[in-house]
Amino acid sequence: MTRTIHVVGAGLVGPLMAIYLAKKGFTVELHERRGDMRKNSVDAGRSINLAITSRGWRSLQEVGLKEKVSAISIPMRGRMVHDAQGNTNLQPYGQTDAEVIYAASRSLLNVMLLDAAETYKNLKINFGARCTGYDPDKSLLQFDGKDIPAEVVIAADGAWSPVRKSLMSRIENFNYSQSFLEYGYKELEIPPAADGAFRIEKHALHIWPRKNYMMIALPNTEGSFTCTLFYPNQGKDSFAQLQTPQEVTEFFTRDFPDAVPHMPGMVGDFFGNPTGALVTVKCGPWNLSGKAVLIGDAAHAIVPFFAQGMNSGFEDCAVLNSLIDSTNPDWESVFTRFTALRKPNADAIADMAVENFTEMRDSVTDPVFLLKKKVGFELEKRWPGKFIPRYSMVIFHPDIPYAEAQRRGAIQDKILEKLCAGISAPEQVNWDEAEKLVKQIA
Ligand SMILES: Cc1cc2nc3c(=O)[nH]c(=O)nc-3n(C[C@H](O)[C@H](O)[C@H](O)COP(=O)(O)OP(=O)(O)OC[C@H]3O[C@@H](n4cnc5c(N)ncnc54)[C@H](O)[C@@H]3O)c2cc1C
Repeated sequence: MTRTIHVVGAGLVGPLMAIYLAKKGFTVELHERRGDMRKNSVDAGRSINLAITSRGWRSLQEVGLKEKVSAISIPMRGRMVHDAQGNTNLQPYGQTDAEVIYAASRSLLNVMLLDAAETYKNLKINFGARCTGYDPDKSLLQFDGKDIPAEVVIAADGAWSPVRKSLMSRIENFNYSQSFLEYGYKELEIPPAADGAFRIEKHALHIWPRKNYMMIALPNTEGSFTCTLFYPNQGKDSFAQLQTPQEVTEFFTRDFPDAVPHMPGMVGDFFGNPTGALVTVKCGPWNLSGKAVLIGDAAHAIVPFFAQGMNSGFEDCAVLNSLIDSTNPDWESVFTRFTALRKPNADAIADMAVENFTEMRDSVTDPVFLLKKKVGFELEKRWPGKFIPRYSMVIFHPDIPYAEAQRRGAIQDKILEKLCAGISAPEQVNWDEAEKLVKQIA
């Protein structure tokens, strides 16, 4: 029969992986550094809320959690763009009622995953267990103060994974890169109105794009919004320049005038909340034979501008689960195939996420970008399945791997460039030429 599978990290991805394994009948131990967030108020992670999209939903459905999580999620139909004068304009994400994304509280989601994990008798969660590394020669998972035997380890221990550090020192030619954006992020709050209502449109992801930087806001079920300011760390217009309450107030009043009346705790939030870093981690190989494998942020930390960090981590769990074909699998084959399948997709979404920052903070106000967006939707309407906007492929089409979305997206972008050159409205597109170009997409 099967050995115990050790999953390290009970953030968002670890418990989901543990549930998949427990469902398959494995004995699972899930080790988490923090205390039990359901008993103590511990920090749940890096953002207060986040967006769930189709790849995440697919995995949640597979483990039977889709309905529960839906009940704590708010559909967002598009980007509500706020200009410098406070005018707003909704840019839909997709073309059908189903093409929406969902905001959910990170901590509620984490609690639901932990609760669901605990319903399995063959799954044990060890809180307060800080892993310090993995010794593959002795098959020992190392913790503060004690080592435990562990022949199969799945590491979901986040962007600064200690298990990854151990693999790095043991695997010859292990590639590793980390690259930080020259930006940080800060979370602030728009609380509910006095009567509990949402102060701004509930069913949208709000963006205040300001070319080099931006603020966004996602709704929470109790009527508030979590705002996130993405801002350069240094230089003119940067966090370094915002040192006093007056500087903060002047900056927000100048750049986000329509948001300020809704943010009574703005200055307190600004100085009370930490400034987060934005990092991309690429590495590989993700596995050491059949002994250990990395998933989620431990394998591929990405910046949040395509809202795919957790979603891609959830997709990792589904893919890994699909490769485990018995209760006594050949783990080396499973982990090696997993790495080969997922790595190109992780690299693709990492790069697309960085690109999307420019789209969100700048392009969404550019008339050429908006024209291309409209023409892209029209091409999809006329030739469904043949032309699918890149955003839609990533967000609404989990059957299209990220790397394929990136490849087709590049071809489609050239088509859009051609069709939109010298025109100012979709009605002016040469549809005969469009048909010829779209039908050539392979
Ligand atoms: C501002 C921001 C917004 C985001 N928005 C979105 C979004 O909208 N949609 C989306 O899909 N993604 C989003 N993400 C990305 C998402 O947060 C991550 O991709 C996701 O949390 C990764 O899950 P994980 O379980 O792999 O890692 P984590 O959530 O980091 O969990 C790792 C777990 O391992 C534990 N751990 C760490 N070290 C040890 C140790 N030594 N021993 C034991 N346990 C350990 C940690 O305590 C933690 O519980 C966002 C990220 C940021 C920063």
